[in-house]
Amino acid sequence: MPGPAAILRELHRLRKHAADLQGELDRGPLRLKAQEAKLAKQEEAYRLAHEAVKHLKVAIHEKEVSLKAKHQLLAKREKQLDEASGKEYEALQREIQHEKEACSRLEDEILAALAEVESKTAQLPEIERIAKKAREEHAQFVLDVQAKRHQVMEMLADVHRQLTEVEEKLADDERAAYNRLVASMGADAMASVVGRSCQACYTEITVAMLQNLQQERFVACKSCGRLLYLAASPSPPADD
Ligand SMILES: [Zn+2]
Repeated sequence: MPGPAAILRELHRLRKHAADLQGELDRGPLRLKAQEAKLAKQEEAYRLAHEAVKHLKVAIHEKEVSLKAKHQLLAKREKQLDEASGKEYEALQREIQHEKEACSRLEDEILAALAEVESKTAQLPEIERIAKKAREEHAQFVLDVQAKRHQVMEMLADVHRQLTEVEEKLADDERAAYNRLVASMGADAMASVVGRSCQACYTEITVAMLQNLQQERFVACKSCGRLLYLAASPSPPADD
């Protein structure tokens, strides 16, 4: 039957593996959230691009209505000009000039807006393509995450089965101490010793502690409290 060193070494390895797998499971929702944010950004870009074209078209319509009204007013004033004289004639002329300039500005603005609608409309298919691709990627991502999650959960269940098997090899009093530490420190409840140094806190253990470890006794680091085991080393040469 292996002593505590071999058992603790194996338990430490399994506990670390289980913690890594659990970490992977815990990161799943975060990765999903990041992916959802990416999709939402693409959907928003698509919505805004459509909105921009819609707003431009509304603005063009309003300018066209306003231009039509100005043309009607101009026609009226030009008719009045035929019958006017003196100061009234000059005032009408000034007003007509002013309105003509306003019409010209409106026409320029309408032309510019029409060109903008055309260019923005031309961009829509590409924006739509990107949004569609983002939706497809997202759907695939969700499937992948689910498949991976399933796989990791199976691996984790397997590691827990192995842990239970190995933990049964500990003596009852050792297992009680081990369980207490694992409950509070998880995979960090154990540490290997290289030379005379605890590999978790790098405190040097006493010679007596080292001897206890060599005699396969249960030893806890006096500094960090972890259960210690000697790091695996090549088998010592057989006695002659
Ligand atoms: Zn330590």
